[in-house]
Amino acid sequence: MSKFCFGADMGGTTVKMGLFTTEGELLDKWEIVTDKTEGGKNILSDIANTINDKIAEKNISKDEITGIGLDVPGPVTDDGYVNGCVNVGWSAFNVREALEKLTGFKVRVANDANAAALGEMWQGGGKGHDSIVMVTLGTGVGGGIIINGDIVAGFKGAGGEIGHITVSKDEEDYCNCKRKGCLEQYASATGIVKSAKRFMAKCDTPSPLRDIENVTAKDVLDYAKEGDKLANDIMDFVCDCLGFALSNIACVVDPEAFVIGGGVSKAGKFLLDKISHFYNIYAFDACKDKEFRIATLENDAGIYGCAKMILGK
Ligand SMILES: [Zn+2]
Repeated sequence: MSKFCFGADMGGTTVKMGLFTTEGELLDKWEIVTDKTEGGKNILSDIANTINDKIAEKNISKDEITGIGLDVPGPVTDDGYVNGCVNVGWSAFNVREALEKLTGFKVRVANDANAAALGEMWQGGGKGHDSIVMVTLGTGVGGGIIINGDIVAGFKGAGGEIGHITVSKDEEDYCNCKRKGCLEQYASATGIVKSAKRFMAKCDTPSPLRDIENVTAKDVLDYAKEGDKLANDIMDFVCDCLGFALSNIACVVDPEAFVIGGGVSKAGKFLLDKISHFYNIYAFDACKDKEFRIATLENDAGIYGCAKMILGK
């Protein structure tokens, strides 16, 4: 009788580990270093070892374990095939089969942003829903799409790459993906700063933002909340880009709710209301008035999503 499962959220620096009950309670969490030496060849055996150590420490019997959910920082197909993962030095191989062989447990693998979206749907900002679109506004813009409880990974595992939806055909600067006009160029923390600089250069509107040497996304949001005109113009532009992109996503997957996470989401309801306002300007009639929520699991979203992946619907 299964009572437990593991979630492993793999990043470029650490692998976050979680031991869960099958009901979804996080019993223990810890981290191991991501060993990127020798093409990352030790990473999976390190994960297998730390799981075996935990099983021994907690005196758990192996037949009480449902399995392991693992997420990786790159595209991965539903059956666990990673076509190279530059962040950890991996070339192409089937990660699911490799970790199953090392542990003897059932394994499911997903992309990290998609796993975080599943985690938020299950126990976080999207709780109570089974179809959500998650957008993470951090240094970049990440995303994940969950429909009827399933991750939409797509043919090559690139489903949910919301940050690289084109929202401007006129952009002249390049995105990290080597194209121009991606959502990430405007709606990430770095995108907000860049937009702020552009607004300040092209208009004379007075604002306390002009007295700050290195304006941050938080500065822009804080002054926008206080009612500063220029800061609000900047955030209106940013949220217009977001609302535009999300209205188009809604035409494809029609989720129950949008969940907004990442550092920028600390602005809370103020941000949600602005995104929702612009979303409704662009949204197809049947997709209007969606729920917008803030993500709640922060850095634990990945391990929750990994656990849910292996527990199933
Ligand atoms: Zn891009």
